Amino acid sequence: MVSTLNLKKVILSVVFIIIFYSPIFFSYAESYPLIRVAIIQDITSVTIKVKGFYEIKDPKTDRLLIRDRDLKTTALTDKKRILLGNINFNLERLLIKPDDKEAIFINGRNFRGSIELIINHYGRLLVVNHIELEDYIKGILYHEVSHYWPQEALKAQAIACRSFALYKREENKLQDFDVTCDVYSQIYGGRTSERLRTNRAVEETKGMVLTYNGRLLPAYYHATCGGKTEDASLVWNIDIFPLKGINCNFCKESPHFKWHAVLSLNEIRKKLNQAGYNIKEIVDISVLQRSSSGRINNLAILTKEEKKEILAKDLRIILGPDIIKSTNFNFKIINRDVVFEGRGWGHGVGMCQWGAYFMAKQGYSFLEILRYYYPGTDVQTIRF
Ligand SMILES: [Zn+2]
Repeated sequence: MVSTLNLKKVILSVVFIIIFYSPIFFSYAESYPLIRVAIIQDITSVTIKVKGFYEIKDPKTDRLLIRDRDLKTTALTDKKRILLGNINFNLERLLIKPDDKEAIFINGRNFRGSIELIINHYGRLLVVNHIELEDYIKGILYHEVSHYWPQEALKAQAIACRSFALYKREENKLQDFDVTCDVYSQIYGGRTSERLRTNRAVEETKGMVLTYNGRLLPAYYHATCGGKTEDASLVWNIDIFPLKGINCNFCKESPHFKWHAVLSLNEIRKKLNQAGYNIKEIVDISVLQRSSSGRINNLAILTKEEKKEILAKDLRIILGPDIIKSTNFNFKIINRDVVFEGRGWGHGVGMCQWGAYFMAKQGYSFLEILRYYYPGTDVQTIRF
């Protein structure tokens, strides 16, 4: 039996779906948008295996160079040209395209789609996977969240990842690739990383993206906000209403809600100097400014000779983003050790993933989760 409250919820959801599911049309030349993922950068050789028929093309002219079957070779570089085994095509770029979309292995790892080899400025190899958008989302979702998470949280995450990927694709269209496969864009593990439940979340939200005023949203997300999400304009040069920051009431039970770290002043000095700061013995560290979310904007590092200012986000990367998990922290200096007590994990912008997890646990839908973390946005469906 459906209670009155549940009935209200159902009616509201139906109204929401009608309003927010109006399709938008993207002017893609291809039938399925492709994402170009840099999977390996700056190397001198890579092993390539293709099962079944494949083509090798010059990606600049689309000229067919070889059509054959069952490739097993090593790509190398020679005087700014690519060698496949001992074949020199006299080109700086090659596209290897299998007939079967799951047939290519790079250094033993299975990837969907095709592979472009590019010689970079230093004469070394850059390996770029050209992959259909939906397959790419399947390849990253497992790394971004646990596949055991509630389905509505997985669906919200799939839509955030898809929006972010398409936003990057637009931003980087003149570059050699759209995204990398590490934490600086989205962690991509290829075909090997797919799981049944995460794949289902991608299929059930196929083509859905977040938009704001009709434009794609750079749908940033992070592990745990610690109570308040951050204004994106304080972290990057993005100043839009959906990313101005909200109060998050859902991540208190996250394993990353609080963190603790201890680093000696000497360790901090060493790491700062490795990053190019020229700092003598540290006497004191103080906070210069915090944002309204409580995160630190900048700090002063005091030595006997001088006072150096540093952005908290830079200090976090230098000391280790997995040690200093956020810029929302307090600290005390005790016997030349800095004892940090912090909240949250990640930059704090956009969706709080653990908040989304607890929202889904409490029965919120993926649309409600996305509306909460990205206020003012619409979910629209790309027509392929
Ligand atoms: Zn949160």
